[in-house]
Amino acid sequence: MDISVNLAGRRVLVVGHAGEARHTIARCLASGARVYLADDDDEGRDDRAAEIVVRVVLPQNRLEWRTLVSSVDLVISVGVDSATTDALERASRDARVWLTAEPPSPTLPLGRVTLVGGGPGDGQLLTVAALTALREADVVFFDRLGPVARLSEWAPGAELVNVGKTPGHHAVNQTEIEQKLVEAALAGRTVVRLKGGDPFVFGRGGEEVLACSRAGVPVTVVSGVTSAIAVPGAAGIPVTHREISRLFTVVSGHTPLAESELVHLAGLGGTIVVLMGVGTLPHLTAGLARAGMRASMPVAIVEKGFSTSQRTTRATLADIAALASRLGVLSPAVVVIGEVVRLSEQLDVTTATFLQDAAAELTTD
Ligand code: SAH
Repeated sequence: MDISVNLAGRRVLVVGHAGEARHTIARCLASGARVYLADDDDEGRDDRAAEIVVRVVLPQNRLEWRTLVSSVDLVISVGVDSATTDALERASRDARVWLTAEPPSPTLPLGRVTLVGGGPGDGQLLTVAALTALREADVVFFDRLGPVARLSEWAPGAELVNVGKTPGHHAVNQTEIEQKLVEAALAGRTVVRLKGGDPFVFGRGGEEVLACSRAGVPVTVVSGVTSAIAVPGAAGIPVTHREISRLFTVVSGHTPLAESELVHLAGLGGTIVVLMGVGTLPHLTAGLARAGMRASMPVAIVEKGFSTSQRTTRATLADIAALASRLGVLSPAVVVIGEVVRLSEQLDVTTATFLQDAAAELTTD
């Protein structure tokens, strides 16, 4: 039915579930009609339409139907049962009001997914966009690397789902996470996938965007402060510094680097930042030394950045692996290799945000 031309200022009564009638309602509103909705489903809710549509009580008998129908110019039924259809036909005939039927909208209202970079763990380093997305979320899928301590405060209306490893439980695998995001959005929910750091730095954010796009789910990405830069920074190590380093390379230490990669890295100069590198540290340092990096090159490992237990371990390329093992250095940690590491002796940059959180933790203990 083409109703786009002549409904301006007309009163249209839509009878049916708000969700199933949403396309009908949207078209009527777009053509300038005043829409009254008689929803025959108490549970039904369509918050987007709620503010612009007048809701009326569903009539219970013939007289009520006739009174309601005679107060409008057009009635549209959307997927109603046969008893309601009968009542509507009779009332429209009695009141001489045009009645038409439209099919229910085929799918549930579509939700959306926002991939949110949560920064390196300090709530002060969330972006304004991240806070906005969390505030609007119906469900938040998070794991341990994101800033989670105050999640229920930031996302007060949301169901909080841990998809990371928890004691006694395996982490939900990547394919399952993608399915959960898509399913929740297809069920009409506003979904946030909260990640540590930036979603596109070793965060598998690209895969999640692809999964959403393939399913036709609208998806947006909120960049986050990456640990690759912020965690060295919190330890007083700038990844670049005039006349000391004019490039930095961020590598994953998740699996050992190949010999040719080690040669190129060692030859590049500048700063090397390694994420997920605690397990492969002995392989990396030995490999860089083999590839020609000098044994005295400074190396730092910054563990648990932005927490009260942040710890920096410094040594040379030759010594760092043994020292890390002796001190029991653990993940999560960022490894920094390069002359910039020396600057941390001069730059005492305990961040203001770190102090605030530390103070908060101390007072709540
Ligand atoms: N997307 C994230 C990185 C995910 S890979 C980002 O942009 O920061 C996970 C690795 O990040 C960890 O193994 C560790 O190397 C690093 N990492 C993340 N948060 C950290 C923190 N608070 N302190 C130290 N390392 C951290």
